[in-house]
Amino acid sequence: MNTPLAPAQLAATDRAHIIHPYLPGTAEERVIMTGGSGCRLTDAEGRSYLDATGGLWLAQIGHGREEIARVAYDQMKQLEYFTSFWEFSNDRAVELAARLASLAPEGLGHVYFTSGGSEGNEAAIKMARYYHHRRGDTGRTWILARHKAYHGIGYGGGSATGFPVYHEGFAPMMPHVSHLTPPWPYRKELFGGQERTPEQVTNFLIQELEERIAEIGGENIAAMIGEPIMGVGGMLVPPPDYWPRVREVLDRHGILLILDEVVTAYGRVGQWFAAQYFGITPDIIVTAKGITSGYIPLGALLVGDHVAEVLLRDHGFPMGYTYNGHPVAAAVALANLDIIEREGLLARATAIGGHLHRELESQLGDLPIVGEIRSVGMMLAVELVADRKTREPLPMLQPLLPDVIRRESGVIVRDCAHSLVLSPPLIMTETEAKETVTAMRSVLERTLPTGEIRA
Ligand code: PMP
Repeated sequence: MNTPLAPAQLAATDRAHIIHPYLPGTAEERVIMTGGSGCRLTDAEGRSYLDATGGLWLAQIGHGREEIARVAYDQMKQLEYFTSFWEFSNDRAVELAARLASLAPEGLGHVYFTSGGSEGNEAAIKMARYYHHRRGDTGRTWILARHKAYHGIGYGGGSATGFPVYHEGFAPMMPHVSHLTPPWPYRKELFGGQERTPEQVTNFLIQELEERIAEIGGENIAAMIGEPIMGVGGMLVPPPDYWPRVREVLDRHGILLILDEVVTAYGRVGQWFAAQYFGITPDIIVTAKGITSGYIPLGALLVGDHVAEVLLRDHGFPMGYTYNGHPVAAAVALANLDIIEREGLLARATAIGGHLHRELESQLGDLPIVGEIRSVGMMLAVELVADRKTREPLPMLQPLLPDVIRRESGVIVRDCAHSLVLSPPLIMTETEAKETVTAMRSVLERTLPTGEIRA
């Protein structure tokens, strides 16, 4: 055993050795978590936190479940790893694949395992191109995506990601990706500047989609990829008819639909998959995160049987990850799904998410910098504006609002594209919901339209 480091040493050692995503080398502060239980976390200094972001939007069943630890322990003793390449498999991966197929929308009966969301989107984009290639439709190389989309950090999914900041300095990105307008009704400047009904927003977006397909040529497009509700974009909830109408257009042109459900799957929106929430059947669903509630890395693609049939022809699908179908990850996922089912967490997401939404409305709704509050289940956002009338976005100054909220109250929230976003564990209590929103209010009521926060 290593000798445990004292908190100050831990922070110094972290600064000396760890490259953190999105953290400048000059940053001094470290929050070093050492424990978790339910929605609460503890750091090395003994401070306590309320996790209103579910880690990175994935802690469906909450932290510190002994049941999961036992399952992982037992599986490691039994079989810690073997490959799933070729004819090899393992019993846990088989059980999990069958379980996922039984939960998925009708016709998505095949599963391809990964270790996370970025790997999943790489696989999905390659699958889409390969599917057409295998059918002799070799011109279909283009991928449609949306501005403000986040599809991970690989070169395929990263290129489909619709924020310039993820591309700058990494060029050349993958060619043949075209970005469309995101379904973000509140930002009326995206739709000609006037207030529009949800149906009019969809009409606008469908017309743009049709025009883009005509420009590129439908016969050149492999797939469209999209998050059913755009997470990093700021929990952007599309009008109810958006996805069914997109599906109809894509079908007419033989273009596959990849739903990136890395955040939305496994209960977060009150259903197993957001595809079910919107009433559509995509060709491929990419999942990760909530499949294990983060207890161990895992991802899974649910693949339409019609796609799988083509991929499995001849020598099969020629790409594999070392950790495809990892038995410990699969065992943990099965136990996680058991808990979601046993504790009724799909219904709970809708109920506590609705409660949290009402709490946001009642505590924050009157603040002049709060433009819109939107949510589906346990994905919630408070969009912040400098001016409610013009909807000009609130400047996001340093220190960022989530940092101030955390330092003052221990509540962890996150900012995404001028919104504060919440995606707590689905087990959050009403008391914890109130605590979260009260902590937000205490800082937001002191925030000026310039973005400055009064002491
Ligand atoms: N897709 C979406 C919609 C995501 O939100 C994320 C991560 N936040 C990813 C893909 C990437 O997943 P990972 O970080 O596991 O690679």
